[in-house]
Amino acid sequence: MKVCKFGGSSLADANQVRKVCGIVGKDRERKIVVVSAPGKINDDDIKITDLLIDCAEKKKKGADFSEALNKIIRKYRNIAEGFGLGNEIIEAIAADLNKRLDAQDLSDEEFMDSMKAAGEDNSAKLVAQCLCSIGLKAKYVSPKEAGLILSVENGSVKVPESSYRAMKSALRADEIIVFPGFFGFSPKGRVVTFPRGGSDITGAILAAAVGAEVYENFTDVDYIYTVSPRTVKNPKPIYSITYNEMRELSYSGFSVLHDEALLPAEKAGIPIHLLNTNNPDHGGTIISGEKNQSDVITGIACNKDFIGITMYKRLMNKEIGFLKKLMDIFYEEGVSIEHLPTSIDSVSVIVKQENIGGKLEKIVGRIESELEVDELMVDKNIALVAIVGENMNNRIGILARICSAISDQYINIIVVCQGASQNNIIIGVKNNDSENAVKALYKAFIL
Ligand code: ASP
Repeated sequence: MKVCKFGGSSLADANQVRKVCGIVGKDRERKIVVVSAPGKINDDDIKITDLLIDCAEKKKKGADFSEALNKIIRKYRNIAEGFGLGNEIIEAIAADLNKRLDAQDLSDEEFMDSMKAAGEDNSAKLVAQCLCSIGLKAKYVSPKEAGLILSVENGSVKVPESSYRAMKSALRADEIIVFPGFFGFSPKGRVVTFPRGGSDITGAILAAAVGAEVYENFTDVDYIYTVSPRTVKNPKPIYSITYNEMRELSYSGFSVLHDEALLPAEKAGIPIHLLNTNNPDHGGTIISGEKNQSDVITGIACNKDFIGITMYKRLMNKEIGFLKKLMDIFYEEGVSIEHLPTSIDSVSVIVKQENIGGKLEKIVGRIESELEVDELMVDKNIALVAIVGENMNNRIGILARICSAISDQYINIIVVCQGASQNNIIIGVKNNDSENAVKALYKAFIL
């Protein structure tokens, strides 16, 4: 059995949904179909999830949300009309959205989760009807019915083993199951969403639960590329990549697949086949536990907008508990740390600019007063370039080649971090230099 997941661009309008139905109908093994909410038709369009967030925020503020709500309903209606479906499905979707908007007993977070989840939930109901309209036997299954119960620990969503067991028996059917991505339920029956782009995670969880032969993830590109096509024109594709490499690259900026989708698939040993809805019979990247490519570097990713907080304190290396106290400040302020390069008397804390937001001043003040540092510097607008490849492990000279490729472009390296597994090297440069740094590394290692 195959589990396949279709992203927002594959469901943006009736034309795209028709391609999805064709792909599902072509292979009887495609028994479970996970769907995102309809995405953008073009660059000027707005994703349904973003419209739902807008609607929810306006409702909370007591502002007029009718324009956003109408846009959402119009998008679903266009798809339904393209398949000649009657008005009942649109009436049901409108009623569902209004019910969610009127819910009284939810916290702000629960209300927002319920609204965001409406995008995929109604998408799954609609796609099930589209599949039936072309003569396939399909049914919508809700995450609650299937037993996708989630727990939230330290701000991140976890899937307990009991959910996998429940879903294994619930997801047996003669019909094709159409399942909404992006959300599950708390033990108390409240909607809990995954992070943005989280339908990829749902697909991986379902594939692991049913022990699928493959998890097919349909998107709008033929391959995962060695470097972003936005930075380098026609970059070399990646034909096969390991789970670990993909996790590093996804986390570091490759937006094609959510990094949290890798772990459930890896744990269950299920390969992920990334395919293009618009070109389903060609191309594709396989993500699995096997390393087939011989290249030293598998891919280069880049994420912008980090902040480095660097502090100096004489004899820091002798002060037992210094790092603990520093970590405690970030923990107490609820800010996640990305990297922590150290030397004898100095340490830098690298965090995402969006995660620290308005807390920067407070954190800097606390470090200065509670840790009594001699000097403190804040470096904004840092980009982290991740050079990833399992074949780097134990190779001599990779870092030297990276540094010379970068210095040949007269780019200053602010920081260097190497993962303990030696599968990745991360270099920090200024945001403005990051594209040239990526191009130089691509030329040096991949071209
Ligand atoms: N619709 C959600 C988002 O836009 C989840 C997904 O598409 O995977 O983030």
